[in-house]
Amino acid sequence: MRPVKILHLYPDRMSIYGDYGNIISLIKRMEWRNIKHEYHSLSIGDKFDQEYDIIFMGGGQDKGQVYVAQDLQLQSAKIHEHFNLNKPILTICGGYQLFGRYFITSDLSELPGIGIFDAVTRATNTRMIGNILIESDKFGHLVGFENHSGATQLSGTEKPLGKVIKGFGNNADSKNEGVLSKNAIGTYLHGSFLPKNPVVSDYIIEQAVRIQAPEYKLDELDDSLEKLAFDRAKKRPQ
Ligand code: GLN
Repeated sequence: MRPVKILHLYPDRMSIYGDYGNIISLIKRMEWRNIKHEYHSLSIGDKFDQEYDIIFMGGGQDKGQVYVAQDLQLQSAKIHEHFNLNKPILTICGGYQLFGRYFITSDLSELPGIGIFDAVTRATNTRMIGNILIESDKFGHLVGFENHSGATQLSGTEKPLGKVIKGFGNNADSKNEGVLSKNAIGTYLHGSFLPKNPVVSDYIIEQAVRIQAPEYKLDELDDSLEKLAFDRAKKRPQ
């Protein structure tokens, strides 16, 4: 089996609130299972010139999003190809917003998204910040930390990642959080997200390996530390 290839989009501009920890979780959980892997990154001006198994994009301040939005448009076709093949994608906050149709920033500039998600985001005067707990049909309880002014509205056809139990989520009213479409996840959960929610990390890894080996089943790991971190985060007030 060839190595599982991760593509990290714009790590130099879009990786706030510890979002690189998601990459660490994916890499370590493959290492612990002796799954060969390669880490690749793409910054502004780089060419998306090969196939990947996992695409990741972290969050960023509005100004970081302004920097990358135009370049992301150049990667749109390749990312849509990846998405249409049911390959896993994880986008966090600012990355999630730019995988929607557009993001209107706090100074009212409209940043184009690449339309993987049928969702639109508008900056608001409410800073949605704090510990967040959601209930996902697919993954159960998920914990994280959110910090965004952008309020995201999903179109009627998009399914949220989960329902908000504690925190804001996509916006201050809908009580839904993130989006799950095919094998693409958008979420506001920083924290970083995957180390405290290993069930999602393993889902992404298993889907990536199944691109080559459709019957592949991940071995269990000793997740006692991850569970401790999850339980601690779950108890935190908003
Ligand atoms: N700049 C965007 C917002 O404020 C995204 C922030 C983030 O990625 N944490 O909504």
